[in-house]
Amino acid sequence: MYYVSTRDSSLRFTAAQAIVQGLSRDGGLFLPDTIPTLTLEDLRAMMPLSYPERAVRVMKPYLEEFSEEELLADARRAYAVPGKFDDPAVTPLHTTHHGTHFLELWHGPTCAFKDMALQMLPLLLTASLRKTGEEKTACILVATSGDTGKAALEGFRDVEGTKILVFYPKDGVSDIQQLQMVTQEGDNVGVSAVVGNFDDAQNGVKAIFSDGALRERLAERGYFLSSANSINWGRVLPQIVYYVSAYVELAARGEIRLGQELNFCVPTGNFGNILAGYYAKRMGVPIGKLICASNSNNVLTDFIRTGVYDRNRPFHNTISPSMDILISSNLERLLYLLGASDGEVRGYMDQLRATGRYQVSEAIARAVRETFLCGFCDDARTENAVGKVFSHGKYLMDPHTAVAYTVLMDHRAATGDNTPTVVVSTASPFKFCTSVLDALGVRQHAAGTAVLDQLAEASGQQPPAPLAGLKGRAVRFTGVTEKEGMAAVVEAMLR
Ligand SMILES: *Cc1c(COP(=O)(O)O)cnc(C)c1O
Repeated sequence: MYYVSTRDSSLRFTAAQAIVQGLSRDGGLFLPDTIPTLTLEDLRAMMPLSYPERAVRVMKPYLEEFSEEELLADARRAYAVPGKFDDPAVTPLHTTHHGTHFLELWHGPTCAFKDMALQMLPLLLTASLRKTGEEKTACILVATSGDTGKAALEGFRDVEGTKILVFYPKDGVSDIQQLQMVTQEGDNVGVSAVVGNFDDAQNGVKAIFSDGALRERLAERGYFLSSANSINWGRVLPQIVYYVSAYVELAARGEIRLGQELNFCVPTGNFGNILAGYYAKRMGVPIGKLICASNSNNVLTDFIRTGVYDRNRPFHNTISPSMDILISSNLERLLYLLGASDGEVRGYMDQLRATGRYQVSEAIARAVRETFLCGFCDDARTENAVGKVFSHGKYLMDPHTAVAYTVLMDHRAATGDNTPTVVVSTASPFKFCTSVLDALGVRQHAAGTAVLDQLAEASGQQPPAPLAGLKGRAVRFTGVTEKEGMAAVVEAMLR
């Protein structure tokens, strides 16, 4: 197997090269040229396995240069070191009523699903650096809508041969998210706020990557730039695992028959999480529909319905900020996977850059609709869902999860579809205390970390240890930059 760019499939890369480089020089995203398959027997054989063991079964065929022993050791370090994940299942499934299962992906060190990939990526990356003979220090640049930043900082802190610099939108993250980042420990870390929204931060990072002169200056100082955003294949790959594992687990429990169709409803921003679900489906896991759930930034809802991607619309700051995105980078990989040629993808992306809009061919639009359902949910309905699900069953959802739950309920109400469905639950409710408190009817919010106690009291549940531990931590990073100043921040860190 080799890896190609979505915008130029003539150049071939190994998995390690793709992971080290992050983004292809032509601006495209790397993906494998073939998709390995899992049979129902393979899935059955995974039933008794632990999460790290399942991870090896899923990831190994994509990583030819990695040995099975090496991957197992890495997967155990990522997911099974005591204290890292606060649930022995790593990604526990919570069934609220028959046929509706919440896949909780937030039991890791930063309490959001980004940990699933970002506990693994640094291990894949350092191994890839060895395998490619790279001797320069990798500087990981991250643009974050809130959760990626902290998860990447935590994953890369003090990892030898790496530095990490995170940019977050100044007014686009929750207080707890910001506190998590600006108090980050580690000798190789940097954090800066950017004036603007997530797209500004992400575009700034993309511009730095394509700045050849800057890259040369950094190379002279012994650095090269790499990415921990979900444009890196090393982010997408570990996410495939939990789709496979959830299917296997529900079959093992008898909630579904092995071979029976299972849908997944995914709260979506950059399209990275749901893309991993699509890979799981293409690998042979009996996944029926993937339901793409958006908040008021519903550019993907419109795209899936019409085949027109149009980012020319108002940007909304919502109570599900990790989905406040108008340019969903990973959609580019989907277009390629659905049969668009490299030239066709390049054309769409050129149009997106020039006009903010593109329309895919009817063939691609049809292929999208065959697998993907979609819907969106505004803040009022999100808040309502958090409150209702809590008061009915004492199950506490974070706002992102609540968007997915609402979109699933809308779909079921509209169609009568009763296919068993996994709602992908992407964050601990304690990461978004103030919105969750509002939903529970508590409108006066305590300041700083005291909101954690307030939500604990209102919900009768305890905050996860990594969030409770924020109390009294010293703030290390106070820098703010304009978008135009991001490159200078990079240069200042890499003196
Ligand atoms: C990142 C994130 C999402 C969106 O995931 P994408 O891979 O960007 O689609 C949803 N919910 C939470 C809590 C997140 O952190």
